[in-house]
Amino acid sequence: MNIGVHVSAAGDLSLAPIRAEEIGCECFQFFSRPPQGGPGKEITPELAKKFRENSEKFQMPSYLHAPYYINLASAEGRIYHSSISILREELERGSKLGVKYLMFHIGSSKDLDRQEALDKVTEGIFQIMENYKGSTELLIEIAAGSGNVIGANLEEVEGILSHPKLSKFKIGVCFDTCHAFASGYDLRDEKTVKATFAKFDKIIGLKKLKLIHANDSMADFDSKKDRHEHIGHGKIGLKGFKAIVAFAKEQNIDMILETQHDELLAEDIKILKKLRGKK
Ligand SMILES: [Zn+2]
Repeated sequence: MNIGVHVSAAGDLSLAPIRAEEIGCECFQFFSRPPQGGPGKEITPELAKKFRENSEKFQMPSYLHAPYYINLASAEGRIYHSSISILREELERGSKLGVKYLMFHIGSSKDLDRQEALDKVTEGIFQIMENYKGSTELLIEIAAGSGNVIGANLEEVEGILSHPKLSKFKIGVCFDTCHAFASGYDLRDEKTVKATFAKFDKIIGLKKLKLIHANDSMADFDSKKDRHEHIGHGKIGLKGFKAIVAFAKEQNIDMILETQHDELLAEDIKILKKLRGKK
């Protein structure tokens, strides 16, 4: 089980694995394009080769995060269709780079009722996956929030994954500890961590759980707010992370930190490694 961080790939994608190695990562996550908007640099065969070489040199699996503006539940045609084409493009770009997974946030259904929104989401994912032959796998990330946000509860995610239009595709789940905690899945100690992942197993199945985003939560349990905090400094706390890391190790699921890149980040990596012990 590897522990890593979301690192910057700005300027040159092939630097991401080097930046990850420098701060003690065993795996890493990155954006292949500006997360707030704009096209990504072309992935030429030379760039792909350099990226793969650097990743292999440090034996680091890599994960791609989709841009923030993706919204497959949007009523606005322009946003909806560009979300579909960008996610497909990111899968193809990830495949060129040898990336294992691409995770994305489904989005929010502001102007649609729930069923209309879910229909858009399944149709959107169908279009993304149809005739896709690449190696990077798509992951739905568990969201924080309530109301219009799609994907904040496990039943809803399972409903999408097992939809008749989508069940033939290989789609997994990224479990963000901060989002799940804010959405009402308790993770504060061994008992609650075990109960939460037992729930995940019952509703979705642990086989579909591919990656964990390790973030403590600034906001309270069930607050519906997405506020990442350094490990042990938030409302989940060290007792919770001890149990989460034990679970991830037992299941061999990599963990990626998405906490602030300040002086506490190195500490976050150290804490997770210490909780895990030897790989
Ligand atoms: Zn996350």
